[in-house]
Amino acid sequence: MEGCIFCEVAEKHIPCKFIYENEKTMAFLDINPGAPGHTLVISKKHYDTVFDMPDEEIGEIYKTVSKMVKAINKVMKPDGVNVFQNNKAAAGQIINHVHVHIFPRFHGDGIDFKWRRVVLDSEDLDNIAARISKGVE
Ligand code: 5GP
Ligand code: ZN
Repeated sequence: MEGCIFCEVAEKHIPCKFIYENEKTMAFLDINPGAPGHTLVISKKHYDTVFDMPDEEIGEIYKTVSKMVKAINKVMKPDGVNVFQNNKAAAGQIINHVHVHIFPRFHGDGIDFKWRRVVLDSEDLDNIAARISKGVE
């Protein structure tokens, strides 16, 4: 897509710290890493968010995520790894081209992904589960 930085990376028009690619996906280091080995996996085809993507394409991304997590775990030897993906600005998405973060974690790294708990009772949870269940296509 015109003006999309990750399309430019996928098309090799701009450089990246390349790790891996296959027909549908590519993995490279985050330019502004939160930890050594912080890696991004992208779909080579442009999608803004997962909401736009067919299940099969999401599956292709996560196959590559699986390979990268294992490689990072073997080589960087972190104490743990977060895998996450931001969709839309409210969720912290800055680059509007689907990508998954693989974020190595180390004891004492001071990073905190914690959230405050929303208080919901069992009935609320039942209702929400039922509503989402009905939304599955
Ligand atoms: P988001 O908040 O959209 O999930 O994260 C976007 C990530 O892309 C950020 O962590 C940022 O450091 C990274 N990033 C932004 N521009 C570039 C770039 O040109 N190359 C690389 N390798 N990473 C980038
Ligand atoms: Zn793009």
